[in-house]
Amino acid sequence: MKFHWQFVGLFGLIWLQAAVVIAQPSPSSPAGETMTAPNHSVPEGMEFVPTVPVPSPQPTNLLPQQGPIVVVDPGHGGSDPGAVGIGGIYEKDIVLDISLQVASLLENQGIQAILTRQTDMDLGLQPRVEIANRARATLFVSIHANAISMSRPEVNGIETFHVAGNREGQRLAEHIQQHLLANTGMRDRGVKRARFYVLVRTAMPAVLVEVGFVTGQEDAIRLSDPATRTQMARAIVQGILDYLANNQP
Ligand code: ZN
Repeated sequence: MKFHWQFVGLFGLIWLQAAVVIAQPSPSSPAGETMTAPNHSVPEGMEFVPTVPVPSPQPTNLLPQQGPIVVVDPGHGGSDPGAVGIGGIYEKDIVLDISLQVASLLENQGIQAILTRQTDMDLGLQPRVEIANRARATLFVSIHANAISMSRPEVNGIETFHVAGNREGQRLAEHIQQHLLANTGMRDRGVKRARFYVLVRTAMPAVLVEVGFVTGQEDAIRLSDPATRTQMARAIVQGILDYLANNQP
């Protein structure tokens, strides 16, 4: 329980700081964005990491859009491993593998997919958002793995976040969550609301999927298994396809 309250307290603190940063139209020195959250016990994706040089986004053509564009965002990377879990598994590696498969499966379905990173590289939150906004993406799907204290191996499950009040984001989150649960049999931690940076700053329906706990006794086994990661990728794609079939004008 002690841990739980630390979680809530830090969550609130970071939330407040995030709100302050976002409320300033063009901070000349976004000091708040230098905050890092090395401990993954805070709701990650919430962290404000130092801005790194913005990579050139993948070229986007300005011709009329031919179909949906989905930006797939593998969390963390490079010097930021994200969560480190049981057996020394790294969140950054797990989510890159899943994301690469998601993008490939989407392309197989004729849907343009743009990855914010394709390799184990450093990438701040702001460039991830810029890639999506510049591409005028239809959807933004950030993929992360969760963590809590290593002394809480009983905490397992999938949760998917969207920004409060964004109905399309909520629907996308519900489709993805449903398919992930059905495909993996993992525990349901629900569809939830959060003001994660990449959800707040993106201009399209956006979700952040937590595909399980690297610190969880049940989840770590699954996340370490390539076949399960493929199941997860397929589920995320099915969720995206369901959303597009039901919610696109
Ligand atoms: Zn993460």
